[in-house]
Amino acid sequence: MKEWKGRPYHALKVYLESRFGKPVKRIALDAGFTCPNRDGRISFGGCFYCGEEGARARYVRPELSVIDQLRERMTYWKNRGFEGYFLAYFQAYTNTYGDPEFLSSLYESVLLPGVVGVFIGTRPDCLGEDVLDVLFRLAQKTWVVVEVGVQTTNDATLRLINRGHDAGASEKALRDLGKRHIDKVVHVIGGLPHEEKYHFLQTVKDVQQWGCEGIKFHHLFVEKNTVFANWYEEGRLSLLSRETYIEWVAEALSFLDPGIVVHRLFGDCEKNKLIAPLWTLEKSQNIHLLESWMRDKGIFQGREAISFSGD
Ligand code: SF4
Repeated sequence: MKEWKGRPYHALKVYLESRFGKPVKRIALDAGFTCPNRDGRISFGGCFYCGEEGARARYVRPELSVIDQLRERMTYWKNRGFEGYFLAYFQAYTNTYGDPEFLSSLYESVLLPGVVGVFIGTRPDCLGEDVLDVLFRLAQKTWVVVEVGVQTTNDATLRLINRGHDAGASEKALRDLGKRHIDKVVHVIGGLPHEEKYHFLQTVKDVQQWGCEGIKFHHLFVEKNTVFANWYEEGRLSLLSRETYIEWVAEALSFLDPGIVVHRLFGDCEKNKLIAPLWTLEKSQNIHLLESWMRDKGIFQGREAISFSGD
């Protein structure tokens, strides 16, 4: 049974400590972006699961400039005795949706002493050549990771949830970033409407084939003020049980290349915004149950990948 510092998967914390030799904290930022799936370029409604704040961490203060958001949070951690490094994380909405010159100066503005990398969350269809050039130049100065919202590689589901792009856009984005040697973290969701386990596993296989260095798994949860909240109320949306989701993720991990870093295993939602499932809030218990399940079944990341390669 292969483990990464006691865990049956290649966890981000372990990866960061081995890469930088010190603990590393990621600081989420809100640079005031919007999203083409909300401002009307693609649609006004947004993805049907997306909350009003475009997945912003609760401590973020969007009223401050990006630099002040970053400085304030770095000071917060230093005052608590933290002596490691920081990553600047452009998280809320679509962080490559802007003028390339503006993007370039924005990203470079966060390269403060102690910041060892920049994470940039975006949609796969917002990575044109000019933006890719900006990212490539940035990657000559610091560690750049682009978080790409793939969610599923099933085009019927992408249409159903109003993503506004198809799987081909995800493949192109991952391959284009790969050609420029820029690290990619893909976001995938388990339990989207009408998707079975094989859809989820196919998505994980596809993104692995298209190229990624990291992955964030999310279970589908229902947030207030979303289209899915209405669907759920009307009985049109069913959610996975915790046990089923754990089984799916464990199986996905079993054929995930051991070199791919696992950044997240469950979706996350603030208590006052969550409608269902309530086990979403039991973060430690969720991880504990997943790891116990994997150990009981002898599953670890890459188990099947290893046996396929004959090791
Ligand atoms: S692309 Fe992201 S920010 Fe835009 S609507 Fe979808 S989930 Fe929300």
